[in-house]
Amino acid sequence: MAPAKDKAAAKDKDKAADTVAGVVAGESGKVKDVAARVGVTVSFTKYQNGGGNVLCRDLMGPVHWVYPSGGNKMTINLTVAVASGKGGTGKTTVSVNLACAAVAAGYKAAYLDSDVEEPNGHLFLKPRISRRYPVSVPVPVIDAEKCIACSSCGEICQYSAILCINKNVLTFEKMCHGCGGCQLACPVAAIAEKGRKIGIVEEGVAGEISFVHGKLNIGEAMSTPLIKAVRSAGPDNSLRIVDAPPGTSCPVITAIKGVDFVILVTEPTPFGLNDLGLALDMIKELGIPHAVVVNRSNPYNSLARDFCREREVKLLAEIPDDRRIAEAYSRGELAFSAAPAYRGVFEDLLISIEKEARR
Ligand code: SF4
Ligand code: SF4
Repeated sequence: MAPAKDKAAAKDKDKAADTVAGVVAGESGKVKDVAARVGVTVSFTKYQNGGGNVLCRDLMGPVHWVYPSGGNKMTINLTVAVASGKGGTGKTTVSVNLACAAVAAGYKAAYLDSDVEEPNGHLFLKPRISRRYPVSVPVPVIDAEKCIACSSCGEICQYSAILCINKNVLTFEKMCHGCGGCQLACPVAAIAEKGRKIGIVEEGVAGEISFVHGKLNIGEAMSTPLIKAVRSAGPDNSLRIVDAPPGTSCPVITAIKGVDFVILVTEPTPFGLNDLGLALDMIKELGIPHAVVVNRSNPYNSLARDFCREREVKLLAEIPDDRRIAEAYSRGELAFSAAPAYRGVFEDLLISIEKEARR
């Protein structure tokens, strides 16, 4: 039996929470729902009223929730990337359905498609685009009048994007990373810069989900500046879901750098698990908290479960290999709406991510 002192403390805590919840006009139920859903004890010890918002601070972790006093969406400051070692494992399926689960749970959510070579989240979310802008990288322009053909620019360039041959300076714009090194190295300021367009960013809304994606120009090799532009777009104070490019090279590292949590999506096949292993090595090197989601899972196939046990990585969810999900996907529909039986899978995944990200 709990000592009387503990009981009194618990009573005081409840009273404090109720007091603050009462201040959040009509939102006390939501506050308690969220606390119960993520399975934590929420201690509302601080609140302030500014700009019409009431800020509730949970001292158990770094995540802050803000309830607009108008009773709209609840905000959370959390960025989750969905990645995979190889393409076609179901990254986009997980990302878009997770965004839907977040909105259904009352969160302000954003979907950021950073798979800029092949963005496909828009096929499922069908956003209304309201803003479109180009993204460029700076490339060198030589002033032949000033150039003294010293070759310093070619010597400093690590990408062979500028060469001085026979007193002429040649530039190879598609190989240029826009680092500005040649401009700094030129002793006579003969190098200026111009922008070279590599793609566009589009922003809009899909229902209540904020939507951002990047579209890389066809034949363009330089995707990282566009991925950075996608990452820096979209609203703050939301659950930001980054649909990362596949693989383990520069584009995916750019997409997941600085996120709070990474979900690695795999399929339970030897090929899928081999690439999951490579992705796990990369994530561990970056030191980002992570877990695995198995797509097209089959209760009789334990390959992925065994793999996660051996590599000591948490398996957060298994999405069944169900024809209804595949058919919804092929029609460009969300499993969340087309196969309601699987809503719970994504809702539970959302709760697990919140818990893991707060550790
Ligand atoms: S900006 Fe950097 S990458 Fe581009 S040509 Fe100059 S040194 Fe090379
Ligand atoms: S560093 Fe400047 S001066 Fe030298 S070759 Fe390059 S552009 Fe010409």
